[in-house]
Amino acid sequence: MIKTDWKPLLDLTSRLAREYLESLADRPIRARATPEQMLAAFDGPVPETGLSALKVVEELARGADPGLAAMPSGRFFGWVIGGSHPAALAADWLTVAWEQNTGMAEPTPAASMVEQVALRWLTELLGLPAHCSGALVTGAQVANTVCLTAARHAVLAAHDWDVEVDGLQGAPKISVLVSQEQHDTVAKSIRHIGLGTRSTVAVDTDEQGRMRAGALAQLLEETRGPTIVCAQAGNVNTGAIDPMSEICDVVDRHRDQRSGTWLHVDGAFGLWAQASADKRALSRGIERADSWATDAHKWLNTPYDCGIAFTAHPEAHRASMSIRAAYLPEGADEGYRNPVDWTPELSRRARGFAVYAAIRELGRQGVEELVDRCCRMASRFADRLNDAPGVSVVNDVVLNQVLVRFSDGGDDDAHTRRVVTRVQREGTCFMSATTWHGMDLMRISVSNWSTDESDVDRSLESILRAHAERV
Ligand SMILES: *Cc1c(COP(=O)(O)O)cnc(C)c1O
Repeated sequence: MIKTDWKPLLDLTSRLAREYLESLADRPIRARATPEQMLAAFDGPVPETGLSALKVVEELARGADPGLAAMPSGRFFGWVIGGSHPAALAADWLTVAWEQNTGMAEPTPAASMVEQVALRWLTELLGLPAHCSGALVTGAQVANTVCLTAARHAVLAAHDWDVEVDGLQGAPKISVLVSQEQHDTVAKSIRHIGLGTRSTVAVDTDEQGRMRAGALAQLLEETRGPTIVCAQAGNVNTGAIDPMSEICDVVDRHRDQRSGTWLHVDGAFGLWAQASADKRALSRGIERADSWATDAHKWLNTPYDCGIAFTAHPEAHRASMSIRAAYLPEGADEGYRNPVDWTPELSRRARGFAVYAAIRELGRQGVEELVDRCCRMASRFADRLNDAPGVSVVNDVVLNQVLVRFSDGGDDDAHTRRVVTRVQREGTCFMSATTWHGMDLMRISVSNWSTDESDVDRSLESILRAHAERV
């Protein structure tokens, strides 16, 4: 076996990582370089000869630094992006060193069983039924696809159609009812499972972007045959959670009359309301759904990438994902699972280690505090911004999302866009822009474990400076 002297390489890597993490306190939050500059820095012909690993890492770190956005900073509020909890980051390093291809339980018992425990912990923390099946995937996009693939299996099986064997050609038509303000990944998942966006019907939403249960009930009355309903926990703009109890009542009534109905919830970040005694009222009833997609890399603050799919129907989940190949060990069903039977991937990263480590470091109380603290910081933003002249928060801040509109007496859309650009450029913090209900807005998402009052206050000063600046 070719020997490598790991120590200098890993010491250097550890130092470089530490320097980056320590620089988060002061470095500009936006990336300093443009994509063009990064391309110029790295592009060139395939190198003819190699370089020592030490040099490669040194060069890579030096070259990449200007093009890094400080996404793990407590003052990064763009999109919905978490940082990495310390134990999760460290566990993820080990995951790479351990290099377990974690498709099967028996050859990699540590990876697969830690994943199994992490999934069970997640079900408990999120208040989902104990018999749920789960899968760790790359993100909520793929989690939505996994859940909807299980849904497709179940609703067609209820109409005596085996989609795994017979496919969709000639199958009973599936109706898909989705919230009008559904995240775009749900539409993409619907495309991927062969249903096409034309098979979807948009369900009306209220002023906070929540699905109207009454509108759903009306549409369901006209719906025959296999039916999938997609609701949402955590509107990507407002943070609002669909009225789950009412939606479940409506879906259950339909289910009683017609077989083959499935309720899926995209809860990429909003499902984490379940981890907080304070916020749980928002998602009440959500455990009655048939499947849930969420992310660990958002609110749990595990490293990228980690999404989670849960279903209340392990048999449908497994039927839609399982694999049998002669060269793979037969799956054992006695108390443990082969991850490959629950995920779209065969070879895969051992994401369970980082999830386990994050939950182990935080404990149930720590997870709850993390969710509550982010919500508290979002309210702090909202309260202070609402007090400032010419600034208004346009959503009900129920969770960790804040939508802000800035007025300078002229064109509010243009002024708001300018404020967002100025804030991003100044670099104290980072917020993204959005368009919602016809308005250009600043969107603040508080999703990082390390964000505290001082981060919020520094960021508020930067925002208000940008608002006060003359054109
Ligand atoms: C972020 C998000 C997604 C997509 O999640 P990824 O992890 O980026 O794949 C889906 N739905 C909602 C509501 C989200 O916020």
